[in-house]
Amino acid sequence: MAETLALFGSKPIRTKSYPPHITTGEEEKAAVMRVMDNGILSDFEGSHNEWFLGGPEVKAFEREWADYYDCKHAIAVNSATSGLMAAVGAAAVGPGDEVITTPWTMSATPISVISNNAVPIFCDIDRDTFCMCPDSLEKHITERTKAIMPIHIYGHPANMNAIMEIAKAHNLAVIEDAAQSPGVRYHGTLTGCIGDMGVHSLNNHKIIQTGEGGIVTTNDDDLAERLQLIRNHAEAVIASGKSVKSLVNMVGWNYRMNEIEAAIGREQLKKLKGFLEERLSLIQYLNDGIRHLPGLCLPILKEGCDHSFYRYPLTIDSSIVKISAPRIVEALNAEGMDFYAGYQPLNEYPIYQKMTAFGHQGCPFKCPMYSGKPDYSGNNLTNVSWAREWTFSTEVIHPPLTANDMDEIIQAFEKVWANLDNL
Ligand SMILES: *Cc1c(COP(=O)(O)O)cnc(C)c1O
Repeated sequence: MAETLALFGSKPIRTKSYPPHITTGEEEKAAVMRVMDNGILSDFEGSHNEWFLGGPEVKAFEREWADYYDCKHAIAVNSATSGLMAAVGAAAVGPGDEVITTPWTMSATPISVISNNAVPIFCDIDRDTFCMCPDSLEKHITERTKAIMPIHIYGHPANMNAIMEIAKAHNLAVIEDAAQSPGVRYHGTLTGCIGDMGVHSLNNHKIIQTGEGGIVTTNDDDLAERLQLIRNHAEAVIASGKSVKSLVNMVGWNYRMNEIEAAIGREQLKKLKGFLEERLSLIQYLNDGIRHLPGLCLPILKEGCDHSFYRYPLTIDSSIVKISAPRIVEALNAEGMDFYAGYQPLNEYPIYQKMTAFGHQGCPFKCPMYSGKPDYSGNNLTNVSWAREWTFSTEVIHPPLTANDMDEIIQAFEKVWANLDNL
């Protein structure tokens, strides 16, 4: 008889908590001290002068990021959230417009649409990658659609060839949410440099980080200038030399990155490849340890795609195992693991269910300039509903964790799988 589960009182496999995700070391410390010795912690000004584009660390970080990405421009910001907001703004999205994304992401993706007074529309995901489903995307396009925001969720690229083809046919902007896929290639091109703009996150959960931070990549000169203006108060539109083609959305914010963050970012970028390799070797070890378990499906890797494994997603084949992901997660976490059941699909959040964002009139959803009727019921999201029930994931697949930590995860899975009849 198999040992009973920790859920029912046996000793958990792991009793110590997981170590924090620390990606910085001596190099970052030295970079911070370089800025401190200099004493200039940020060197931005809103006016159109030599400080409009920030200080030396920000400029160097942007140049190095753009070179690494083989992309013309990189614009550093203080979070991916502000980067997404700036990108949607730069794409001239506004009241009356719709932007199509998926609800299987972090809240900031569609909020960046709402923050520009436009309406996010949720299409379905693909079952194998959890990214935007191109067929579903196409079905959701209306005369109001202005842009598409695919997410390279968990770190696997979205089906960009199909998405770019649809975007081209309908003349839509593409803003990639690449927050979870730094350094991940799609048929040779780094994710974030395939669409019109790509947004990368540098918050402390992400694969490389500056504490808080983000960076937007684009190959388009006009979009780059619009991003720089939105990032930095947009006052400079009045100056000679700053002659953006359109004043639409030239509403300036302060999304500027400071010198300390940029100095840390420069060191983190050098470590990115190594971090991705370390993650991959942990994942391969873990895959080999659990692939024999019936009904447990490992993450897939589509042809031509890398994976950052920001999260490690698993799927249950419900024709073999009848216990859904939330219950499996409960049993694993009782063993001291750190798994999550899915994302809560964003369409279920009150902001969409009640369609109330700005003010008392329900803007932007009920704005008089908006003629659509968004469906946030989830009835159009078959694969999202499936994913909610049958997938789960973890983030604890990064250094300083080792094969020993993976062994514990493998043991926990074996224990749970030996007890499936009792769950
Ligand atoms: C983390 C994340 C964001 C937001 O990043 P911040 O830098 O914290 O603003 C946006 N989208 C996705 C998919 C993310 O994972």
